[in-house]
Amino acid sequence: MNLQNGVTAYGLLHFLTMPAQHNFLWHERAVGLRPPTRAFIDGRYVTALSGDTFPKKSPVDGRLIADVASCDTPDVEAAVASARKAFDSGVWSAKSPAQRKRVLKRFAELISKYEEDLALLETLDMGKPISDSLKVDVASSARCIEWYAEAIDKIYGEVAPSGPGSLATITREPMGVVGAIVPWNFPMIMTAWKLGPVLASGNSMVLKPSEKSPLSALRLAEIAVEAGIPAGVFNVVPGFGGTAGKALALSMGVDAIGFTGSTATGKLVMQYAGQSNMKRVGLECGGKSANIVLADCPDLDAAARAAAFAIFYNQGEMCSAGSRLLVHESVREAMLEKVAAIARDFKPGDPLDPATRLGAIVDDIQLCRILNLIDAGRQEGARVHLGGLRVRTETGGCYIEPTIFDGVTPGMRIAREEIFGPVLSCLSFDDPAEALRIANDSEYGLAAAVWSSDLSTAHRFARGLRAGTVYVNCYDADDITVPFGGYKQSGIGRDKSLHAFDKYTELKTTWIELG
Ligand code: NAD
Repeated sequence: MNLQNGVTAYGLLHFLTMPAQHNFLWHERAVGLRPPTRAFIDGRYVTALSGDTFPKKSPVDGRLIADVASCDTPDVEAAVASARKAFDSGVWSAKSPAQRKRVLKRFAELISKYEEDLALLETLDMGKPISDSLKVDVASSARCIEWYAEAIDKIYGEVAPSGPGSLATITREPMGVVGAIVPWNFPMIMTAWKLGPVLASGNSMVLKPSEKSPLSALRLAEIAVEAGIPAGVFNVVPGFGGTAGKALALSMGVDAIGFTGSTATGKLVMQYAGQSNMKRVGLECGGKSANIVLADCPDLDAAARAAAFAIFYNQGEMCSAGSRLLVHESVREAMLEKVAAIARDFKPGDPLDPATRLGAIVDDIQLCRILNLIDAGRQEGARVHLGGLRVRTETGGCYIEPTIFDGVTPGMRIAREEIFGPVLSCLSFDDPAEALRIANDSEYGLAAAVWSSDLSTAHRFARGLRAGTVYVNCYDADDITVPFGGYKQSGIGRDKSLHAFDKYTELKTTWIELG
């Protein structure tokens, strides 16, 4: 996962160490918070038809923050029907691009206006530091919506070079009803990456947020209506994956599904599409990205800062986390010490404290998964260089130390499996060709990085690395203008940039015989 538009990992590191500009008491606000808890269908909040709810606890302190509507097939079908009705009526789909642009720009402005509410919901829901929620998640989401709003009235169709006797045009049309299923690590940003291109191109959408982080999406739906997005165009059905998520992916009324989440669930979503109406499937899935530091790394300090940031930012709950650090043996020790020194700054703390850099892990289940993999690393013979323990248990929340393993070999579980936590696996190599081979020896292919002073070496690695994004002498540098997605089992298709429209639009050929 990438961070903020136009901000490199190094730049953002500096950015996030600045004092938070809002210094009122987040804890007080949290106590008074009344989060949205019901599904959002046809322009209004509704309880699940069954009346069922599920408890949403905060990983910050284990406190119950809401009982959220637990949607199932009937709720999903009601949302899909509402989205279809809105699409067919043309109330949004038939608006000119310039009209949709105006409304979406207003939506982006309102997201910024309500930034504090949204940031608080995000932090309480999934545990990330409040400064990050505010300055990265809310800001990036608003920027994403604004960018697609600005893009949509600047895209032209094509005229094919078919010859003098005909006129053949190639135009893009919205697909209809798009289902979106998103994870919990960047709830708002993942939603915005779908919402921007889906709504800008005239579709209607039904979103299934993660059961671990449904709150900000429910609030966004209300804000969308305030911005002027017509009822039924954006619906949110909170609930579990095996019920609400499955129902959405199986629905005969959904034309395309944009999924972000684990590779295992992505494969199920493909099956559901095959079992139902062959809906188009876009997948943004897991990663185990390699960050390669060659002997001629131009700046070990910068590489160490980026490496630490690449695995400890967002508690390491990042699809693009640089979770495998591949270091040339000649610089291994120096690099390890530098990364560890920076890691000590990522001390787990209260997510509602603006100074905190490393917040809470999303829930007990994820915490156990991380601790189990740390155990597996120890048992398989890797050395714990730093951390490795659960901390802050007295808070009732889910916290873990930034952890660094040294002496990792490519076959170990901590070198192969996505941990999705603040755990760095360091591997070393002598021959650059070996580094490339190890980096590519993964079922995933989301991101990779190489650090070298030599231009030709950097280009050779950039070509050789089988990943959707390759960073050279940086990590997690990002902008909405570039596509993001994976090779291999990291996914199918791309989010962000104009390429995201490929997921949510049909190409139409119109052939006119001129005689
Ligand atoms: P997950 O696969 O468990 O869940 C993702 C979403 O799918 C949730 O909304 C969940 O409720 C839903 N779901 C679960 N089972 C389902 C089913 N049977 N049918 C339909 N929907 C179902 O993933 P997660 O734990 O929420 O998120 C972590 C994963 O997401 C990691 O693997 C991470 O790499 C990946 N991720 C990828 C990107 C990317 O852009 N490539 C970005 C963020 C996260």
